[in-house]
Amino acid sequence: MTFWDRYLLPTNVDEALQALARGSARVVAGGTDLLLDLQQGREHPVGALVDVTRIPEMTAIQTDGDWLVVGAAVTHARLVQEPVLARQATCLVESCGVIGGPQVRNVATLGGNVAHALPAGDGTLSLVALDAEAEVATWDGTAGRRAWRPVRALYAGPGRSAVDQTREVITRFRFRPVGPREATAYKRIMRPQGVALPILALAVWVRLDAAGERFAAARLALGPAGPAPLRAERAEAFLVGRPADGDTLRAAVPVVLEEARLRTSPHRATADYRRELVPALVERAMTLAVQRARSGEVTLEPAEEA
Ligand SMILES: Cc1cc2nc3c(=O)[nH]c(=O)nc-3n(C[C@H](O)[C@H](O)[C@H](O)COP(=O)(O)OP(=O)(O)OC[C@H]3O[C@@H](n4cnc5c(N)ncnc54)[C@H](O)[C@@H]3O)c2cc1C
Repeated sequence: MTFWDRYLLPTNVDEALQALARGSARVVAGGTDLLLDLQQGREHPVGALVDVTRIPEMTAIQTDGDWLVVGAAVTHARLVQEPVLARQATCLVESCGVIGGPQVRNVATLGGNVAHALPAGDGTLSLVALDAEAEVATWDGTAGRRAWRPVRALYAGPGRSAVDQTREVITRFRFRPVGPREATAYKRIMRPQGVALPILALAVWVRLDAAGERFAAARLALGPAGPAPLRAERAEAFLVGRPADGDTLRAAVPVVLEEARLRTSPHRATADYRRELVPALVERAMTLAVQRARSGEVTLEPAEEA
């Protein structure tokens, strides 16, 4: 059985959009999700696959004014080797560094991770903690149109993206680099020898006050804890103004648990087990981020624990 008739390699975004606009076509990047979905019948065969990995602006990592900009077709392997991201978006490097194994990371992309729309996509959780935006491009009949949208707004449900991958292309992501007394961290808990998604994962961003003693702001992205990556906003509000210490983190756990919609998944874990993991994840990821924010130093740590 064939799953596509033509495999197209456009070299710019408008060419990709035009190919999609001709109908019966679908964006592909690394293919690590899409090809399995086609082979296993979760997706229908298409007339054309439109490969976006040869489009220069989609494979670049650069600074643009106050933004760090990462192309949607940047692979996880490439992303983790970028020193500016290790320092300025540490959680993203830590999370993309544990996706699959080396073969997967060599071809799988950040855009594919977001477009696949799983509530525990590792790279996606970090983008949500970074409050990142995605640039989505659409063909309006005569030209390509682009708009920046919060990554959080790209979810229509578990595994369902608000980006129409038969018509639209996510071209780039942008977010602010960390400033003084700000830092990020990522931790996930995985089944031993697990290769796919985490049992539970948490990406965090923190800003401390001028004295480095209290939380001035925080963002926590937890998954899977609902139909989309969860921003634990009540816990974030709870943290502001409180001492950045273990007592505060322990007190924040029940607030996170109130917001999280943890469920049992047959191959990974029960809801009760996930509930037990929340205190450890909050403590480990937040403590690391606070240390980094205080010291201004970043040493990458293994993000994963079995
Ligand atoms: C063995 C294995 C282990 C894995 N482990 C993990 C893991 O630990 N953590 C994790 O999060 N994921 C994991 N994955 C899932 C997958 O590798 C990631 O989600 C990856 O980032 C998908 O990227 P891709 O480029 O391969 O996407 P593709 O398979 O090419 O595309 C996925 C979907 O996104 C669409 N798409 C791709 N790029 C764009 C774009 N720029 N604009 C619009 N739509 C687009 C496609 O049409 C398709 O619907 C694993 C997969 C495998 C096979």
